[in-house]
Amino acid sequence: PYNGLSAADIMKKRLEFLSPSLFCFYKKPLNVVDGKMQYLFDEDGRRYLDAFAGIATVCCGHCHPDVVEAIINQTKRLQHSTVVYLNHAIADFAEALASKMPGDLKVVFFTNSGTEANELAMMMARLYTGSQDIISIRNSYHGNAAGSMGATAQSNWKFNVIQTGVHHALNPDQYRGVFGSDGAKYAKDVQEIIDFGTSGRVGGFISEAIQGVGGIMELAPGYLPAVYKSIRKAGGLCIADEVQSGFARTGSHFWSFEAHGVVPDIVTMAKGIGNGIPIGAVITTPEIAEVLTRRSYFNTFGGNPVCTAGGLAVLRVLEKERLQENAFVVGSYLKDRLKGLQEKHDIIGDVRGRGVMLGVELVTDRQLKTPAKSEILHVMNQMKEMGVLVGKGGFYGNVFRVTPPLCFTKEDSDFLVDVMDLALSRL
Ligand code: PMP
Repeated sequence: PYNGLSAADIMKKRLEFLSPSLFCFYKKPLNVVDGKMQYLFDEDGRRYLDAFAGIATVCCGHCHPDVVEAIINQTKRLQHSTVVYLNHAIADFAEALASKMPGDLKVVFFTNSGTEANELAMMMARLYTGSQDIISIRNSYHGNAAGSMGATAQSNWKFNVIQTGVHHALNPDQYRGVFGSDGAKYAKDVQEIIDFGTSGRVGGFISEAIQGVGGIMELAPGYLPAVYKSIRKAGGLCIADEVQSGFARTGSHFWSFEAHGVVPDIVTMAKGIGNGIPIGAVITTPEIAEVLTRRSYFNTFGGNPVCTAGGLAVLRVLEKERLQENAFVVGSYLKDRLKGLQEKHDIIGDVRGRGVMLGVELVTDRQLKTPAKSEILHVMNQMKEMGVLVGKGGFYGNVFRVTPPLCFTKEDSDFLVDVMDLALSRL
């Protein structure tokens, strides 16, 4: 039983003492009290199927016992900074992470968030190449500190940030983009930015392979290989932002860039890496990693024993429970069922994504692709009342983000789709 504050009391405190910029999807905000695998529970003990665990990217499931145990055991033993001391947890986790990487990507820097990971990655690219220019894709989200907010390319998430040295390329958007699914055509824009917007040399390119905040947009096939070629020809490094799409979420692969047949020079990650605890990482080659020896570099809590012990437990759970395979099988089933729903409801303009990183875009007109902004909020609220939580994203805020934990089942998928069906039918 829960004896804490009610949702209304928390809301009152939040309005008075917390950031006025915080937002809530629901008319009646949800007070989440407990979590267990794919479920969340509110103050009254009501159970919700969580198909938006992806926001924290809880990958193994909420409060997975193995991860909780690893965190508790390490907390009882020692929690400290490992900047000036040795500790086995950080070394063990770095080795395990490196083993999941292709090529020569094996040097790990730990951070506390995705933003910090991207800041570090871009700084390293600039140091290594001696060039300032970074290219990112329109509609991307990379974080909210100076550099990563500059690289982010959606006005929704940008404050009065200095944009120096950042260029935003055409989004290889297979739904709304002018070239459809022809990745090579969109890639020419990156070459043109290099040719006409820089000295001809660049620091690097950063992208998600599936844009998460941007509304689960998988980059058009053929795009990344062509862009990586252009960037490397211009002396730049290629950075893959796996913050949302990494850690087996896409099912077909462990990292989402792998589906595009490319090997980045730097990979950044967060969210899923810790199953909900704050940790991020940057992985690169020994040669690129050397740039950080030019000055002193440290991050107080990056790689602390508790978070790295938790991270190692996450990797073990992913393997032990074959969660990548589950994400593939269940995700394919769920996508098929959502496609079926699209045939029934005209308001569903597009169903896309991979594994358990799926998007359902709502439009009031399939030809004009007019974003169904108010409809989606209504459906989302209805779904919550029926016990299913989904996320929302995309530039226009009209895309359902279906990103459950990787332990999601076919039965969960059926429940989610049936509930979405009912909510859409009642529109
Ligand atoms: N990159 C991507 C792709 C993200 O989705 C996010 C967070 N939504 C970030 C970076 C930033 O991560 P954090 O919020 O942990 O700083």
